[in-house]
Amino acid sequence: MAQTADERSREEPIVDVVVVGAGFAGLTAARDLVRLGYDVVVLEGRDRVGGRSSTTTIAGTPVDLGGTFVGPTQEAVVELARELGCKTVPTHNRGKNLIKWRGRVRRYRSTIPRLSMLELFDVSRIQWRFDRISRRISVAEPWKAPHALSLDDQTLDRWLRSLHASASTRDLMAIMSRVTWGCEPDQVSMLHAVRYVKAAGGIGRMLDVEGGAQQDRFPGGTQQIALRLADELGERVRLNAIVRRIERHADTITVGADGGDVTAKAVIVAIPPAHRGAIDFSPVLPPEYEKLAQHWPQGNLSKAYAAYETPFWRANGCSGEALSDEGPVFITFDVSPEDPEQSGSSRPQGPGILLGFTDPRTFDSLPPAERRERALSGFADLFGDEALQPIDYIDHCWGTEDFAPGGPTAAVPPGSWTTYGPWLRKPVDQIFWAGTETADQWTGFLDGAVRSGRRAAAEVHTELSD
Ligand SMILES: Cc1cc2nc3c(=O)[nH]c(=O)nc-3n(C[C@H](O)[C@H](O)[C@H](O)COP(=O)(O)OP(=O)(O)OC[C@H]3O[C@@H](n4cnc5c(N)ncnc54)[C@H](O)[C@@H]3O)c2cc1C
Repeated sequence: MAQTADERSREEPIVDVVVVGAGFAGLTAARDLVRLGYDVVVLEGRDRVGGRSSTTTIAGTPVDLGGTFVGPTQEAVVELARELGCKTVPTHNRGKNLIKWRGRVRRYRSTIPRLSMLELFDVSRIQWRFDRISRRISVAEPWKAPHALSLDDQTLDRWLRSLHASASTRDLMAIMSRVTWGCEPDQVSMLHAVRYVKAAGGIGRMLDVEGGAQQDRFPGGTQQIALRLADELGERVRLNAIVRRIERHADTITVGADGGDVTAKAVIVAIPPAHRGAIDFSPVLPPEYEKLAQHWPQGNLSKAYAAYETPFWRANGCSGEALSDEGPVFITFDVSPEDPEQSGSSRPQGPGILLGFTDPRTFDSLPPAERRERALSGFADLFGDEALQPIDYIDHCWGTEDFAPGGPTAAVPPGSWTTYGPWLRKPVDQIFWAGTETADQWTGFLDGAVRSGRRAAAEVHTELSD
């Protein structure tokens, strides 16, 4: 005769906490709980840890397909990395940046490209209005802000048009939207946009290299942080364990996963809100939680890397940073191995590696050879024909992943914050929620993921030690 869940859970050893998802959030939560003496199991659906942090190599050099950069005020992830012995290097930022705008390539310095005086004035005007709105928003409870409903009722695009932002300003904001949320300005709620940027410390802090979120990177890749966390956790981490069911009983919770069920006193679900919708909760979650999962979609972003014998663009005075209003490559960075002159090494300079963020709308559906051709021609439009002759190339489309697709983060549409926001991380019985989307500081970033894991572990500790 089939056993009931309660009978089964009486037979299986009950652990203290199951963590769903072995991204930065889940692994950090598990580490904190283990340090507090709890018995923890981490269930990860993929065959690897790291989630949206995934490191591979190109021309023998580690590069990140997902989360890459860190910067000032991201103390949570930077401290964690330091504790685990993962070092950072400054992002290469010497030389002139390029912008391909309206068919012409121009050089500039700083984050804001060289546009005409009028265009620059308009960018500053819009940034000023954006900052002014953000001052009146609480990152923790944005739905309570004055005008929250009207801000959440419109997209970033509608807001820009209501202020008669120029076409150049709108195109620059579209680039920000693409790289930040993986969506277009007419898909993201203005309330979400303002809250998100505030959680990062402002537009400058979020977009800058020096002094901003792109200031530093990990020469060994960001996934090494997750791998070292997983090493510490050892057999507590189970891979290929897609969680399909979470059943709440009187005093316990059974988590049904590929490879076996685990019963626990509490569960931390450390996955993006959209992916919560793929889990069957029993009894069903209150309707707000189900709707939240449906209305908090993931954005889509893709990346292409090309490696060359040397960083040839540096010889031409270029930093390797560029913006383009024509796709599919719309932002580039130089992520070549650390400069030998900076590290005091005598090895020759090389390989040179360009990272290009690519627009999934015109990139993801192409066959691999065509993607390569389009990405290389995008690099060549900016840096010259030498870019057409790489020694190695790779790309990755997060929106087409089979399991848990999407990234960099949620592209929250109008209406979601004011309707479902209060339930984003509110526990249900013994179910707690983590993941970068639930963070109040650096939400959407690696740092936000670590902070959310810490917060969820602290909530569980309070619950279990009562
Ligand atoms: C292209 C790209 C570029 C980025 N660039 C940067 C950057 O430069 N700097 C930065 O700070 N951040 C960046 N990010 C964002 C950063 O990677 C994420 O914020 C961070 O990795 C999120 O961590 P997380 O633990 O919250 O979620 P995730 O990393 O998504 O972890 C969730 C885990 O849960 C697993 N999972 C999902 N559903 C289930 C289930 N049902 N059962 C079991 N397991 C499940 C997933 O496989 C995944 O491993 C980037 C992301 C992308 C995609």
